[in-house]
Amino acid sequence: MSSSLTADPRGIILPCPSCNSANRLAFARLGQTGRCGTCQAELPSPGLPVVIGSEEEFTNLISQSSLPVLVDFWAQWCGPCKMMAPEFSKAATQAAGRAVLAKVNTEKLPGISNTQRIQGIPAFILYRGGSETDRTTGFQPAGRLLSWAELE
Ligand SMILES: [Zn+2]
Repeated sequence: MSSSLTADPRGIILPCPSCNSANRLAFARLGQTGRCGTCQAELPSPGLPVVIGSEEEFTNLISQSSLPVLVDFWAQWCGPCKMMAPEFSKAATQAAGRAVLAKVNTEKLPGISNTQRIQGIPAFILYRGGSETDRTTGFQPAGRLLSWAELE
């Protein structure tokens, strides 16, 4: 089983739990229930971190998402970021249906780090309705992160 999800510029790509075909959940309709386009099974709310693959995906997710978006800015060389990964996954599962948790690799996508003025990592930014509402840095357990983001 995969431990993360991917996106494209229009939505999150979610494999159907019944037939495994890829379904796109449009950013603007996250939080609504959807059905698999192939087998019609009901699709669960995304409960895994979404790995952002491009600046366009990031911009569209932040500006179009119907749910709050909590982004983890990290890098491979960062020890606390690695310690944080399982906690962030846990938080994504706990917040499924109420928020989208996404990850930005600051080395692969330096343009996003620049526009978001990321200094220390891991950094967490919460976006609601297309705007940043809060940010924090440093390792924290899943429960503390969700409580900070008011997503418990
Ligand atoms: Zn299906």
